[in-house]
Amino acid sequence: MPDTKTDTTTADATATPPAPPAPGHLPLAVFKELEIVRDPKNLFHQTIEQVLIAAELVGLAHHQQLMLAQPKNEIMVHFPVLMDDGHHDLFKGYRVQHNNVLGPYKGGIRYHPHVSLDHIKALAVLMTMKCSLVRIPFGGAKGGVKCNPRELSTDELMRLTRRFCSAISNQIGPDYDIPAPDVGTNAQIMAWFADTYAQMTPEHNRADTQRVVTGKPVEMGGSVGRNKATGQGLVYVLQEMLDELEIDLGSMKFSLIGFGNVGGWTARLLGELGASLVAVLDHTGAIHNEKGIDPEALSEHTAKTGGVDGFAESQAVEENEFYGIPVDVFIPAALEQMITPQKAKLIEAKVVVEGANAPTTPEGDAVLRQRGIEILPAILCNAGGVTVSYFEWVQNKSSVYWPADEVDRRLKRHMVLAARRVKLARIKYECDMRTASYGAALEQIGKVYDLSGVFP
Ligand code: GLU
Repeated sequence: MPDTKTDTTTADATATPPAPPAPGHLPLAVFKELEIVRDPKNLFHQTIEQVLIAAELVGLAHHQQLMLAQPKNEIMVHFPVLMDDGHHDLFKGYRVQHNNVLGPYKGGIRYHPHVSLDHIKALAVLMTMKCSLVRIPFGGAKGGVKCNPRELSTDELMRLTRRFCSAISNQIGPDYDIPAPDVGTNAQIMAWFADTYAQMTPEHNRADTQRVVTGKPVEMGGSVGRNKATGQGLVYVLQEMLDELEIDLGSMKFSLIGFGNVGGWTARLLGELGASLVAVLDHTGAIHNEKGIDPEALSEHTAKTGGVDGFAESQAVEENEFYGIPVDVFIPAALEQMITPQKAKLIEAKVVVEGANAPTTPEGDAVLRQRGIEILPAILCNAGGVTVSYFEWVQNKSSVYWPADEVDRRLKRHMVLAARRVKLARIKYECDMRTASYGAALEQIGKVYDLSGVFP
């Protein structure tokens, strides 16, 4: 439950962000103790280092730091799938269960050609942090299959999903580990996943086993509002921060990397509040219109053509030009590690609002801070998705379904309280917003570990 002392703060966090503590000897000592050979380009190592810096700031016990520096379980499976032309391909899949001290493991499943074990481990750590920060009773996990979903037919995607689910079915469960959509997966894939799990566990009530995944279609036990949830959560966080950032929504200009689920919903929701989308970059190209891009018209265009390229009411621009377009808010809402130091030098924005998971490299982060650009970190800004996943799970468990306004009201509460928690932690620990978010998440995990102790 939210900490009411934290919840009511209205502290001003606008002062120039102090630099985070330099990567000191402590994270390195934990790396050494665990025999991790630190590679600065490895997303898992980067993530663990950031977590350990914050852990030291909040005074997390050493054994708790050790436990958080490695996932509890790393599951790797290989499974064959019948392709449409009659041959079989072998696929590699992962499920990493990072931590479950706060509740069942929770996190999405990604279908992407670059899926790798360390990448999934990093994303699982971020899920632990996210769930703790928004105070939902879940731990962190992540899964994925190395594949290119754009090159698979609907039937191939269905067979791949069913085989992957069957390969990990004895490692997940409605009260143990609950997958969800992520990059390259969607509600239809969750529907196949839930159905396969029900077939694999005939001894259980079918309706109850639906809880094994969230992000399902509404007709199959999904929650209203889950589809827009990540974008909506980001908008609630941004609204909570507007005063400190001295930004007015009515005159705000923003640009977006990515126009998928998160980018598309964020654009439409901010558009409804009067903000103006001026530039978008995706895998097909970059577009710009200083007078504003209509998010609805762009959604129709991307649904038809698969990307933003060729959108009529805009000019095509080069990638580097896109980064330099002056905006109030720059929103990366695509893949990880896109804001490198080179890109960070180009960005002309007051604030970077991270819609994607880990979109900024540590060096890119340092450049942005040096240039006085504020960063609202991903574990805060994109936690709306898993929060509504939690609502879906609660609704499945109780068989009572909430209307859209109820989902929005509850989501807003979780997001606003999390944003206030981060502002407070930033003042308390005199650090940047990212370290403060990890700190606020770790405070909760530390309290629970202190209470539960370590078995035996
Ligand atoms: N994949 C989403 C995330 O990274 C949602 C996870 C979930 O709903 O469990 O937060």
